[in-house]
Amino acid sequence: MTGTTVRRTGWPDSVSRPVVTPLQPSVVYSSDSPDALDAQYEGLTQGYTYGREGHPNADLLARKIDMLEGAEGGLMVGSGMAAVSAVMLGCLKAGDHVLGADQLYGRSLRMLREDLPRLGIATSLADPTDAAAMRAALRPETRMIMVEVVSNPTLRVADIPAILGLAREAGVLCVIDNTFTTPLGFRAWEAGADIVLHSVTKLLAGHSDVTLGYVATRDPDLRTAIRATAVTYGLTPSPYDCWMAERGLYTFGLRHARASATAAALADLLATHPAVDGVLYPGRADHPDHDRASVLLNGQDGTMVSFTLKGGRAAANRFVAAAPQLPFAPTLGDVATMLSHPASSSHRGLSPKAREALGIGEGMFRVSVGIEPENMVLDDVRRALDAVQD
Ligand SMILES: *Cc1c(COP(=O)(O)O)cnc(C)c1O
Repeated sequence: MTGTTVRRTGWPDSVSRPVVTPLQPSVVYSSDSPDALDAQYEGLTQGYTYGREGHPNADLLARKIDMLEGAEGGLMVGSGMAAVSAVMLGCLKAGDHVLGADQLYGRSLRMLREDLPRLGIATSLADPTDAAAMRAALRPETRMIMVEVVSNPTLRVADIPAILGLAREAGVLCVIDNTFTTPLGFRAWEAGADIVLHSVTKLLAGHSDVTLGYVATRDPDLRTAIRATAVTYGLTPSPYDCWMAERGLYTFGLRHARASATAAALADLLATHPAVDGVLYPGRADHPDHDRASVLLNGQDGTMVSFTLKGGRAAANRFVAAAPQLPFAPTLGDVATMLSHPASSSHRGLSPKAREALGIGEGMFRVSVGIEPENMVLDDVRRALDAVQD
């Protein structure tokens, strides 16, 4: 009945191909026959079946991040926390113990402190800049160590070579969350991590318009287990988000270079301004882990700078008000320079005493440096610092 219904017909033929990756939102794929579907499920032929089990935009993006990280067979999931969840739920069982770094991303810390213990998985935390403390925290039932290379917001640099050595010696998995450092700052896979994960939401996608995660696993059995976990728990990402992130990825190197150069200049500006009590940037000689950063970070000191204002919360409020061009928003890795205030956001769950112990006071800010011209960022920050002083 012409004009009353439309049918699914497929895509118009073209002897030429699109240069830009097509966005493929289809949740289902039709196969030629039950035998053909069997062959797909048995892995004899490559074919997609159902969106939650995988789709071309995710696979294409994963291969690109594999290339950046030097890894193989990475998997895209719906967020950085989905990557953490897939790793934990896919690799651990009741009775295991996980040793985490004590300054992991807030939600990862929460998973270790609250969620895993509820599932019968014991956890403890230790200082990853202190290899002896990490060693002392290992238990006979330790199955996994989880670390980040550079911590948020104090930008401490973990003793990754020693931790990888400990993990190998003890026969436990070493998981590196490489979000902050990115593959340009640290080659986590080449360094020997068993599992590397990223919040692709941050620098890799780079525009704060998708949430995505990536996880690469060396052991093929664990890779299968993590993939199955992602499919079962529904951690699969949206094709649209993967397509957007691929677009962002093409400029990742340029964005990273621009933002890192500005971050280094910003750190130097902050260090000389009278309104500032202290600055943390791994590229500066006054950073507590500067020597380790020089060895580990591949000459890339990163796009994040933290500093503390004199005058606590009152000064912090004045600073944000005086910098309306810089979004005050608790994320990182965007094209725009953004300010975050850990005491009122990422670290609000800690007691003031626990925050002080980490060096996170009411005057502390973390700057995620964007790709604006360097002078624009320096001028905005200088003006706001001057206003705090008045
Ligand atoms: C943001 C972040 C995560 C979580 O990623 P989402 O994409 O927000 O789920 C994990 N680890 C680190 C280091 C992060 O910065």
